[in-house]
Amino acid sequence: MIENRYNEAAAAELVAAAGDDPADQALALRVYTSRLIGQNPDLVMHGGGNTSVKVRRADLFGKLEDVLHVKGSGWDLDTIEAPGLPGLRLAPLLRLRALDALSDEEMVNVQRCNLLDSTSPNPSVETLLHAFLPHRFVDHTHATPFLILANLPDAEAVCREIFGDRLGIVPYIMPGFALARKAAEVYEANPEVEGLLLLNHGHFAFGDTARESYDKIVSHTNEVAAHLGLKTPTRLRQRRAVKGASPLPVLRGVIAEMRGDADAPMPVLDLRNGPEVMGFLDRPDLEDLATRGVASPDHVIRIKGRPLVLPRSVWSAGRDAIRKAVAAFEDEYRAMFDRQAPQAAEPKTMLIPDPKVAWIEGIGIVGMGANAKAAAIAGDLAEQNARVRAVGEDAGGFRPLGEKDLFDLEYWSLEQAKLAKSSAPPLQGRIVMVTGGAGTIGLATARAFAAQGANCLLVDLDRDRLDQALAQLGGLHAGFAVDVTADGAASAAMEAAINAFGGLDILVSNAGAATPGALLDLDDGTLRAAFELNFFSHKAFATAAARLMRDQGRPGQILFNISKQAVNPGKNFGAYGLPKATTLFLMRQLALELGRDGIRVNGINADRIRSGLLTDDFIAERARARGVDERDYMAGNLLGREVEADHIGAAFVALAQSERTTAHVMTVDGGNIEAALR
Ligand code: ZN
Repeated sequence: MIENRYNEAAAAELVAAAGDDPADQALALRVYTSRLIGQNPDLVMHGGGNTSVKVRRADLFGKLEDVLHVKGSGWDLDTIEAPGLPGLRLAPLLRLRALDALSDEEMVNVQRCNLLDSTSPNPSVETLLHAFLPHRFVDHTHATPFLILANLPDAEAVCREIFGDRLGIVPYIMPGFALARKAAEVYEANPEVEGLLLLNHGHFAFGDTARESYDKIVSHTNEVAAHLGLKTPTRLRQRRAVKGASPLPVLRGVIAEMRGDADAPMPVLDLRNGPEVMGFLDRPDLEDLATRGVASPDHVIRIKGRPLVLPRSVWSAGRDAIRKAVAAFEDEYRAMFDRQAPQAAEPKTMLIPDPKVAWIEGIGIVGMGANAKAAAIAGDLAEQNARVRAVGEDAGGFRPLGEKDLFDLEYWSLEQAKLAKSSAPPLQGRIVMVTGGAGTIGLATARAFAAQGANCLLVDLDRDRLDQALAQLGGLHAGFAVDVTADGAASAAMEAAINAFGGLDILVSNAGAATPGALLDLDDGTLRAAFELNFFSHKAFATAAARLMRDQGRPGQILFNISKQAVNPGKNFGAYGLPKATTLFLMRQLALELGRDGIRVNGINADRIRSGLLTDDFIAERARARGVDERDYMAGNLLGREVEADHIGAAFVALAQSERTTAHVMTVDGGNIEAALR
């Protein structure tokens, strides 16, 4: 099931590039096999694993000392680099074993105090476990087959059946000092073991070389998979477009509404609906499986202890039924908190009780989060959890940790401390659709929104140009190729937003093009085509977006790229100005009609931006016609400075953040008194 991807030539190349110091060479190999492990989601996902190597390095006085390099927080194994494996002096860590107890805060502090580089990230909370094992290379995974094994009711017996005495078995203890000590004891009871099974948690393997430890990670995992009859890897992120009614926009809106704050943002939703997921949702024991817990305790931090289950009979009944189901989920969560919090050693702050995963019959499994990244992580873990539950239940039982242990992990003091520090970007997780998104202004606008934390759906004619734009944008954004003037384009684009992110917060209706020509020379067909693009498509997208926003039942925004032509006619630009003037009126009409729904409608009047509409050739021609050079032509405004696409993007973002502004036009033209609005 897991392919061994170790390649001697690739490894040798990395060692050669690392220089002469054997410590750096070992670290290079450590990076190499960490990545091999990290790149397989059936071995580790989203922080659910860590690796280490022990080396000898000279201190400032030239004295050699033992150093442990172990994964630091904030790094993922699949992309880790040497700085992601901070070095710690090993001797002081080993002395800790003599202690009876060590709090998590004390542990974090002593680890930081022994870093070789004081600017390194915090070493993993499993650092001491790596330190207390004597092997040079130590690897830890939350592999799918091991999670199934680790949660079987008779996991120990099955483990012995598969491995005999080759694996030590460690009872469940929360990560930290106590687990590290226990794991070392289990190892020392039989130093012949090749690795460890951590019940309800995961797998450790080790060896004298990077290859030896990696080989064991792969072979052990394959032995468990063979025993369970798991043949295929988990296929993550399979998605088919859902046509027709989807409960996702209402679900987004309801979850935000439950916060009781009119401005609380809606979550981003990440839908998974491949054949395996859909088969899982048809299981008759679905409701029961939902109450059992999670495959590995650290999952609770991302996806809570249970999913929201929405049978078709509930979601198809509409908003009130969905609201009732979410309210029941949140009541149950609060009750769990009230049962567990009084037993904790220190006071706990309840997290927002909203669901992070939904199992929606006939629709799919949905990961939910404050932005697309968090939603994708929740979706990945939810898919792995579904498989672990289904296979485990059929192989003898899925018996993960109970409520108390999950609470201890979810409300871990180290996690609670992070709450106070977190500050989200202002437009985090807002879903922004930009039409003409692959063009100069569209892409600059998407970039400006993305910089504030938004997730964008670019709409444009051409798939290749969209892919190029998305590559430039980076991050988790999506594209939808359609001619905005085509019949049904607007509703198809809204469906694309629902399928990609669950709904829509902000529409930037930007697509447009100018047809030059004096009115007396323009035939009606040309003028009508100009109206299709510069007015009717804006109307179609704006009304479709408004309907979707009404379904969500939360504030939304529509922003138009209007143009100064709407108020200040330019010679031979009638076929552009007439529909743009109508679009200006459309903006005001919609602002009037949608204000009560909390939907704000605003626009930008821009002028003279280098773009697909105003090409370099065209600029040269206009400048010649006016007898000025190109620079003076582009900077022919009150400020005497050229207006660039980034200025338009920044203005759209400014309008989006102006919370009590609607029916407004902002000019971005460097000052053009003839085009000033009264
Ligand atoms: Zn772990």
